[in-house]
Amino acid sequence: MNDTVDAVVIGAGVIGSSVALELARGGRKVVVVDKGPSAGAGSTSSSVSIIRFSYSTLDSVLTAWEAAVMWHDWEGHLGVVDPDGMARFVRTGMCIFETPGDGSERIKQLWDDVGIKYTVVSPAGLHDLLPGVDLGCYYPPKLIDDPEFGEDAATELSAILEPESGFIDDPMLAARNLAFAARLHGAQFRFREQVVSIDRRTELGSERVGGVVLASGEVINAPVVVNVGGPHSSLINRMAGVADGMRIRNRPLRQEVFTVTAPSGLRLEDGLPAVTDLDIGQYIRPHIGGTWLVGGTEPECDELHWIDDPDHYEANPTVEQFEVSMMRLARRVPVLGVPHRPVGLAALYDVADDWVPIYDKSDLPGYFMACGTSGNQFKNAPIVGKFMRDIIDAEASGHDHDHHPVQFHGPRTGREINLAAFSRLREKSHTSGTVMG
Ligand SMILES: Cc1cc2nc3c(=O)[nH]c(=O)nc-3n(C[C@H](O)[C@H](O)[C@H](O)COP(=O)(O)OP(=O)(O)OC[C@H]3O[C@@H](n4cnc5c(N)ncnc54)[C@H](O)[C@@H]3O)c2cc1C
Repeated sequence: MNDTVDAVVIGAGVIGSSVALELARGGRKVVVVDKGPSAGAGSTSSSVSIIRFSYSTLDSVLTAWEAAVMWHDWEGHLGVVDPDGMARFVRTGMCIFETPGDGSERIKQLWDDVGIKYTVVSPAGLHDLLPGVDLGCYYPPKLIDDPEFGEDAATELSAILEPESGFIDDPMLAARNLAFAARLHGAQFRFREQVVSIDRRTELGSERVGGVVLASGEVINAPVVVNVGGPHSSLINRMAGVADGMRIRNRPLRQEVFTVTAPSGLRLEDGLPAVTDLDIGQYIRPHIGGTWLVGGTEPECDELHWIDDPDHYEANPTVEQFEVSMMRLARRVPVLGVPHRPVGLAALYDVADDWVPIYDKSDLPGYFMACGTSGNQFKNAPIVGKFMRDIIDAEASGHDHDHHPVQFHGPRTGREINLAAFSRLREKSHTSGTVMG
């Protein structure tokens, strides 16, 4: 059976489902194809789903700040209540320890520019906010066999505290909510179907995308194909033959996230903010039920585990990484009860060369991509659907996004977000070069 639709979205993660919603809202007949069992079952299901605004570029800060209000009014954003339950935003605030190389001066400048409120908290103030936490400055993060690992700290850390950050309580449910809303606008979701090739056709003497071919042999014809394949997206770009036309590339990176019991006084219920701690190379995200999610911030001493085949990687956390993370964390939080065995998960980021996502067209007319989300774009999913729709609409009306970049008008700030910031052809952005973006 061959079908013809207006757009095929490859991938039903939180971003693919958002793209599908916005394209369907715009009147397109949309089919979403996902090789997994349901919306959000890919890397979205492992997300720590922190909503924060601490990025190193203006367009990234504006994007996250604009997207946050969509999470605050999730029902308003979706236009419907999903009877299977709605994802919720939980406000915690974000505490960023000030340490060398943390980019906090740049972040404060950008927040002043955008109007994001924050306070600078002295070590004395932090002792009240974070009872039992050791505020020693241990920078740079070290491996545990480094002779300097156990050295005492000479000074204490201050921090910036931003009150509007938080997290989404169930990242997979957020994707399912977006898929539910997209279906109401006519989008069709086809699960357990894999795209195995991208069809090209010639029109008026030049090549453009023609659709996708599924593993079953079925062809879905479409003038628009959007690659939102998460950690598989670089493979899909290669399949489409567009990778060589990209100055910024992306590839999967394996990451581990651990769950630990939150010490008394430092639980979500006690008012603990999310904590970015580049001083020891870790972040903490308080979670419902008296636990923390703990992940790494790619300090220089840690090896990065790039993955060639995203279908084959070690999906369990390793004892080695667990020990490093827990030893670092135990320096910061001496009262922490460290579990005996790793509890957590391993998952894949889809990392762009400069850790800024790629939301763009490609050299193949009609083929678009929302990829390279670099472990930090869950928060932007609702707005990225709108970005992609604007780029796709502009191209369909003869506009060339490469030469005249689409500007997205942010309703919260009234400011324009220059979507050239997410172009595959950009020069590398000046960022932290880590998940912090
Ligand atoms: C451990 C971890 C922690 C994170 N923490 C945060 C955080 O705190 N805050 C934040 O903002 N972001 C975070 N992120 C990043 C964020 O979760 C991702 O950017 C986001 O979920 C990506 O969504 P997606 O829709 O692009 O991709 P995915 O959810 O990976 O979806 C891609 C889909 O494509 C499908 N697919 C792939 N290839 C094919 C094919 N050939 N045919 C058909 N289907 C295909 C897959 O089955 C999958 O369902 C984190 C990510 C990870 C892994």
